[in-house]
Amino acid sequence: MMEKLSAKEFDLNFSEIRERVKKAAEKSGRTADDIILLAATKTVDVDTINYAIQSGINYIGENKVQELLAKDGGVISAHKHFIGHLQTNKVKDIIEKVELIQSVDSLKLAREISKQAVKKGKVMNILLEVNIGGEESKWGFEPQTLEQNLREISALPNISVKGLMAIPPICNEAEENRKYFKKMHNLFVDIREKKIDNSSMEILSMGMSDDFSVAIEEGANLVRVGTALFGKRIY
Ligand SMILES: *Cc1c(COP(=O)(O)O)cnc(C)c1O
Repeated sequence: MMEKLSAKEFDLNFSEIRERVKKAAEKSGRTADDIILLAATKTVDVDTINYAIQSGINYIGENKVQELLAKDGGVISAHKHFIGHLQTNKVKDIIEKVELIQSVDSLKLAREISKQAVKKGKVMNILLEVNIGGEESKWGFEPQTLEQNLREISALPNISVKGLMAIPPICNEAEENRKYFKKMHNLFVDIREKKIDNSSMEILSMGMSDDFSVAIEEGANLVRVGTALFGKRIY
């Protein structure tokens, strides 16, 4: 049925991850119900994605427009997010296909999303991506300019900012990222307390296969997991 892993393997991965999510949530004084487990489905075939959704995965995320469009018709109903770098000229292609764009990394992109959302008569939910490691190579707002950008973006028509997203630097040990997750959580709480109009700051999306437990311990309430669910990607 599935190309790259058996249903049994998926079931095992999923139950292990659920257990780890539960443990990490409890460590931070929450329950598993407080955490959204989003399956990052890049390179995963439609049958496998549908199997995952039928097994209880409620949220899925693609990071490439072309791949999202190719699979979208075949994927059964779920909460669909966009999680990758988005070029402004592709916004119109996905605006009606996803319920949340997690990876808004510039004012220019936010303006285009607003423009297309107005055209389609919908309100687009977004997260702002933060370059929490201050890396040259990474997309996202610098922590120092986040508030100013959030104020401008929240004021755009047909956009609702639901929170923040981050991809910390690649590291060897999950523990090395704890400081970035802490920093993100502090930023999230500070900015939430400012109660900026049209920004609800409900979602803090951080943590992937190698470090989602640490991210949850530090306050993430949405984790994006690919490899740990579906196995290693073969490109
Ligand atoms: C692929 C991807 C993930 C998941 O990565 P894994 O290490 O396979 O869990 C999370 N977030 C984004 C933006 C991705 O592109």
